[in-house]
Amino acid sequence: MLSQKSKDEIQALYRKLVEKMKLTPRMGQRVMIAEIAKSLGAIVEDDSEERCNDAGIVVVEAGTGTGKTLAYLTATLPMAMAAEKKLLISTATIALQEQILDKDIPAFRENSGIPFKFALAKGRGRYLCLVKLDKALQQMSGLLSTVDLFDQAPEAADQALYEDLLSSYGRGDWNGDKDRLGYEIEPSQWRHLTATHRECSNRRCEQFQNCAFYKARGELDTADIIIANHDLVLSDLVLGGGAVLPAPEKLIYVFDEGHHLADKALNHFKVEIGVRAQRQWLKQLEKALEQLITQGGIPSSMMHSIRTAPEQIAECQQALTFLWPMVQEMLGEAERLRFEFGRIPEELKGLLQNLKTPLQPLLQCLDKLNEALQKSLDPKEEGEFERSVAESFQAPIGILFSRSEILWDGLIWLLAEEAADVTPYARWMSKTAYGEDWDIQLCVSPIRVAEQLRKSLWWRCYGAVVTSATLTSLNTFNQIAIETGLPKWANFQKVVSPFDYPNIGTIRVPKLQHDPKAEGYQEEINNWLRDNINLKEGSLVLFSSRAQMKACNDVLYPEWRDELLVQGFLPKSEIVKRHQEKIDEGKGGVIFGLASFAEGIDLPGNYLTHVVIVKIPFAVPDDPLQAATSEWMESQGRNPFMELTLPAASVRLVQAAGRLIRKEDDVGVISILDKRIVSSRYGRLLLDALPPFKRQLH
Ligand code: SF4
Repeated sequence: MLSQKSKDEIQALYRKLVEKMKLTPRMGQRVMIAEIAKSLGAIVEDDSEERCNDAGIVVVEAGTGTGKTLAYLTATLPMAMAAEKKLLISTATIALQEQILDKDIPAFRENSGIPFKFALAKGRGRYLCLVKLDKALQQMSGLLSTVDLFDQAPEAADQALYEDLLSSYGRGDWNGDKDRLGYEIEPSQWRHLTATHRECSNRRCEQFQNCAFYKARGELDTADIIIANHDLVLSDLVLGGGAVLPAPEKLIYVFDEGHHLADKALNHFKVEIGVRAQRQWLKQLEKALEQLITQGGIPSSMMHSIRTAPEQIAECQQALTFLWPMVQEMLGEAERLRFEFGRIPEELKGLLQNLKTPLQPLLQCLDKLNEALQKSLDPKEEGEFERSVAESFQAPIGILFSRSEILWDGLIWLLAEEAADVTPYARWMSKTAYGEDWDIQLCVSPIRVAEQLRKSLWWRCYGAVVTSATLTSLNTFNQIAIETGLPKWANFQKVVSPFDYPNIGTIRVPKLQHDPKAEGYQEEINNWLRDNINLKEGSLVLFSSRAQMKACNDVLYPEWRDELLVQGFLPKSEIVKRHQEKIDEGKGGVIFGLASFAEGIDLPGNYLTHVVIVKIPFAVPDDPLQAATSEWMESQGRNPFMELTLPAASVRLVQAAGRLIRKEDDVGVISILDKRIVSSRYGRLLLDALPPFKRQLH
C-alpha cells in the first residue's frame, strides 16, 4: 500500500509544480497521479529487491489536455528513486520523444527541485564504431582487403569525410552520435562506420574504453530517467532484457503512446527470409572462408569444421536452387500468398528441411569461429588466431554469423507446427525489392505478442505505466489487454477529459445517398467536400485509402490549388508548417491525409476547426496478420469483425476525432461521410466511443 509519507511527498510535489509552472490543477491529472502512485505503492519486493506480487502495473487512458507527462513524472520519479530503480520513458514517435527530452523533463527538473539525471538511450546503430572506421580507412589505403567480400567497399571519395569524423571524435568535438553530427550522412557511408551486435567484440575490443556506444551506455548507469523508444525497448527484450538497457527488474517503465506497443512488438517478433538474399550471404561466406584458409594460421581445433563448411554451404545453396522456382511458382503473379492456418505445404517444408539440415553444423562452425576471433582480439586473452587475422575477419564473420542465425530462427518458426489449442503463427510469402531486382521472402510472425510480452516484460519489470490518449476501444480496455498480454490484475483507468466536449464541438453525419461501397459514392464525396469545406478556415480531410484521396485530389486540386496540401507530395512536418502559415496570413487551408495524419498532428485553435472523416477506418483486409487472426477466430466460432476489426476501427476513429480539440478554448466540427455510422448497429457503437460532442445525425 502507498505509504502516507510517499503520498504526502507526491502531493507536495504536485502543489509545488502547479504553483511554480503556473498551471491550473486538473482533475484528470490528479487522478492519474493518484492511480499511478497507488499501483506502484502496492509493490512488494523480495530479498533481491525485485517485485514479487501482482501489483505495479497501471494502464491510464488520458486524453489530450490532461497533462500526462507531468502526471507520470510526478508520480513515478519519487517512487522510482525511493526504490532505487530507474525510470524508463518510452515513446513510439520521435516527435514526442523530443518534446519530453527537450521540454518536459528539463521543465520538470527545474521546477521540481529534484536533482535527477536523465539520458537518452539509442541503439548501437546510431553510434560510431572506431574499429569499423579504422578498417574503412585501412581499406581505402589498400592495407586491408577482407571487407570487400560484401561488395560494399567504402568509396575512395569518402576518405576525407571519414578522416574528418575520426579527428572530430578524437578532439572531443563530436561524441560519435550520428544525430549530433550537425549534417546528414548517407546510409551507404554510415554503414561502414557502425557495428551490429555481432560485429562488436564488446569488452574484448581494444577501443572499448573509447567507444562512443559504450560511453553513452555508461551514462545510462548513472541516469535516474532513461528516455528511449518502443523499438529500442523491444529489441532489448528480444535479446533477453538488459542487453542494451538496464534489466526489466531494475526499471519502472512508462510507455507513452502505449497504443503502439503491440504493433511494434509484432514487428520485432517477425522473421523474414529472402530466398535470393540467402544465396548472396552464403556466397560471401564461401569467399570469406576461402580467404581465411588461404591466409593460414587456422587453429587445429577449428580446422575440421572450417574445411567441411564449404560442403555445407554447397548443400544450402543447392536447397535454395530448388526452393527458388518452387516459391516463384507458388506465388505466381500475386504479390503475397498467405498459408491458411499458418500451415505451409509439405513440398515446401521438405525443401526448407533440406536447407536446415546443413545449416546446423554451419551455424555451429560460425559461432565457434566468431568466438575464437573475438577472443583473439582481446589483449588479456590467449587467442588462437593471429591478431591481424582476427582484426580482418572478426567483423565480416560476425555479420555472416548473424545472418545464419536469422535464417536458422526463420526456418525453426517456418517449420514449427503449433498445437491445436495454441494461437497459430501467420506464415506467408511476398514479393519484395532486392537491390535493383526483386526477391521472394518467406515470412513468419506470431499473430499475438501477448505471451512474449507477458514473459519478457510484465512478469519481469519492477513496475510499468502504459498511457495514451487512446487505449480503450469501444469503451473497454479489452483489446489492448488481449493484444499486449497485460495482466488482468493491472490497474486500468480512464481519466476525465478537461474539455467541455458538448459545448465546444459537434459531430455531424450528413445525409448522403450512397454508402462507401456504392458506385456513386466517390462523386457524392467530391461534391460534398466542394460544397461544405469552408476555404477560409482550417480543415483536415482524413481518408482511409490512398486511391480515394487521389480521386478527390484529382477533382478538387484544380479548384483548391491555393488552399490544398496533400500527403505524399511533401513531408508531414512541411505540410503542417505551410498550413499554419496560410492560417497565420488570414487565409484558409485544407489538408488531405491518410492514417498517419489521424495521429500525432497538433493543429490547435484556428489552425483546425473542421475534421472530415471520409470513411470508417477499417483495417486493410489483406494484411496477413489480420487475415490470419480472423481465420483463427472464425475457426473457434468467434466473430473477428466484432472482436478485431471493429475495436481497431474504433481506436482509429477516436484518434482522428482527437485532432479537432487540442486546447480548452478550441471549437469545431467533425463530419463523418459514412452513413454506416448511423445506419448500422456497429456504427452506433463507434459513435458512442467518441468523445461526447453534440451530435447532428441525419
Ligand atoms: S566496442 Fe564494439 S562498437 Fe565499440 S569500437 Fe569496439 S567494436 Fe566498435
